[in-house]
Amino acid sequence: MKKHNFYAGPSILTPYTIQKTADAVINFADTGLSVLEVSHRSKEFQAVVDEAVALTKELLQLPEGYHVLFLGGGASMQFCMVPFNLLEKKAAYLNTGTWASNAIKEAKLFGEVDVVASSEDTKFNYIPKNFVIPTDADYFHYTSNNTIYGTELRKDPDSPVPMVCDMSSDIFSRVFDPTKYEVIYAGAQKNLAPAGVTIVIVKESALGHVSRPIPTMLDYRTHVKKGSMFNTPPVLPIYSALMTLRYYKEQGGVAEMERRDVEKATILYDEIDRNKLFTGTVAEEDRSIMNVCFVMKPDYAELEKDFLDFATSKGMVGIKGHRSVGGFRASLYNALPKDSVEALVAVMKEFEAKH
Ligand SMILES: *Cc1c(COP(=O)(O)O)cnc(C)c1O
Repeated sequence: MKKHNFYAGPSILTPYTIQKTADAVINFADTGLSVLEVSHRSKEFQAVVDEAVALTKELLQLPEGYHVLFLGGGASMQFCMVPFNLLEKKAAYLNTGTWASNAIKEAKLFGEVDVVASSEDTKFNYIPKNFVIPTDADYFHYTSNNTIYGTELRKDPDSPVPMVCDMSSDIFSRVFDPTKYEVIYAGAQKNLAPAGVTIVIVKESALGHVSRPIPTMLDYRTHVKKGSMFNTPPVLPIYSALMTLRYYKEQGGVAEMERRDVEKATILYDEIDRNKLFTGTVAEEDRSIMNVCFVMKPDYAELEKDFLDFATSKGMVGIKGHRSVGGFRASLYNALPKDSVEALVAVMKEFEAKH
């Protein structure tokens, strides 16, 4: 039976990425060696990193003055690297969920943190609006897509200070204005590559302004200077990331990914709104196009496990909701085909007809 992969992360990759990665595991760039066993300093692998940097710049339309890094440590490492490198006195943070809360916790180790707004009071089911960002903050940090709660800021906020964004689960799914940001980071395992690499975009002019000493490995300048090769980078995930980037470009770039992602999300949200058994969990205007969270309506609450079993029997994988929300979550990353969304909708309709 065909499986439909809705995992939140690590998550579905394009068949092109998987096939090309498998090929390179056998024979990388006609070296007669596996990509698993070549030096990261070989000219063949250097070409991989160079092209991955260039394609990221092209796809995200980064202007001059921005560096693209491929680092280990996950997005979670960036929760500390950002304040280590940028927070001198005070930073502003928007609290929209678990990941934002983790970022806030780390920032507090380095200076004053002004949490400008939080939706924690209602289990993060909306994005706060009309908050005020202090003009004397070193930066404003937010999470563009809340993977766990299924909310998303799909428009760059207005900020009087430069912004830092955790785009782990929606990078390459929407067009944004990079000039508003000093740092953008994204763990690759949501929309790009296997787990192990984090893409970090840093603006040159943002560096070198804090007075504290920074350990070598945690200093962005180390990795900028060495082109992500200060130490051994995650070679295999970087190779896969390049394959995905090539695919995105060939398919029409980020604007085309966005068009497809909006179309897929609309199909699923329309069904959630129509189906008598289900209801969405977040404010309509803040719905994520990447992670769609829904639950059984109260009258049908006891059917939750039945639906999960039924959907699983029909090939749906990874739709169990995160433990802090419950219900269901379908992640519709770029690599997920529209067919899979239509298959999930068909399963929801069939289950409704039985009840
Ligand atoms: C998954 C995720 C993280 C954590 O990523 P790691 O690579 O596991 O550290 C952080 N932020 C967001 C928005 C995520 O979705």
